[in-house]
Amino acid sequence: MLIFDAHLDMAWNAVEWNRDLMLSVQELRQFEAQFKDIVPGEPTITWPALKEAGVGLTISTLLPRLHRKDGALSHYQSREAAYGAAMGQLAYYRAMEKRGVIREIPDAATLKRHVEEWEAGPTESTPVGFILSMEGSPPILYPEQIHEWYAEGLRLLGPGHYGEAPYCFGTGSEGGLKPGGKELLQAMNECGMLLDTTHLADQSFWEALDVYEGPLIASHQNSRTLVPRDRQFTDEQFKAVAERGGMIGAAMDNWMLHTDWKIGVSEPSMVTMENVADHIDYVCQLLGTTKHSGLGTDLDGGFGKEQCPSDLDTIHDLGNMAAILEKRGYSKEDIDGIMYRNFTDFFLKNL
Ligand SMILES: [Zn+2]
Repeated sequence: MLIFDAHLDMAWNAVEWNRDLMLSVQELRQFEAQFKDIVPGEPTITWPALKEAGVGLTISTLLPRLHRKDGALSHYQSREAAYGAAMGQLAYYRAMEKRGVIREIPDAATLKRHVEEWEAGPTESTPVGFILSMEGSPPILYPEQIHEWYAEGLRLLGPGHYGEAPYCFGTGSEGGLKPGGKELLQAMNECGMLLDTTHLADQSFWEALDVYEGPLIASHQNSRTLVPRDRQFTDEQFKAVAERGGMIGAAMDNWMLHTDWKIGVSEPSMVTMENVADHIDYVCQLLGTTKHSGLGTDLDGGFGKEQCPSDLDTIHDLGNMAAILEKRGYSKEDIDGIMYRNFTDFFLKNL
């Protein structure tokens, strides 16, 4: 079965963490065993692993993080440096595309052909598809630059990340749109850049929806009712995304899956993929339909296997979600929708 993963920081792993994503996951783990204190956890994903797992479509990000006051000096101190890093990550995707490993999906026609190729059964030369997204907005140096980024292939922007962002507030901070925020969203309206609402602080979320008129998603997003953290969505936020025909990707970070999870302390056995299914099911029951639900794992997004559901060793195990949903009484059609088709339908309409 084809699988769509709506949130992977592939270039960030390759460029910032210096991971050779052409290795197998086991080879990468062996190589990194000597660098345990440097890399963010044990990896679960590489390009060949994605392909073997049937993850033929991804939303892959540009993620140049800015240094935060309380954090280690592992991120950029200026927006211009973040811009340069984002361009570098983009160049990485272009290089992998030249190598035939991945395929950029900039429009609906390319998406349609790509999905048909994967549904017919991928051959040795079939690449993994990616829709280009940006997580955080430091590299958007001024609002109108959105048009330049669109021309570079960027199709989705999540303006918020952790902490205060240039145009809005993100996870762990509070506040509405900042100066330039409204103009940024208006520029997105003009060129058809899609909004990713994940990581927006509550007030920024609601103010963004007042200005932004286009289709939207929440790429890696779980429920605040099940696990009460500000990173999570309230019922009203899920409903607002669904009312616009938007999509919600279920994330596989244990911190977002279990209320008692303590980063760096808890045992992985506390969480399984059943917890992910709980969040998917919660959203489906809340909205009265499975049509807005999909997967946005965020695997290797700053954490590794130690912070993933314990029955997920590598991305290869992601396909087991289909059987978990089947056991819960989901129909074949609904399962196909959650595994990939709801997201591909959304992008066929909106890309
Ligand atoms: Zn994220």
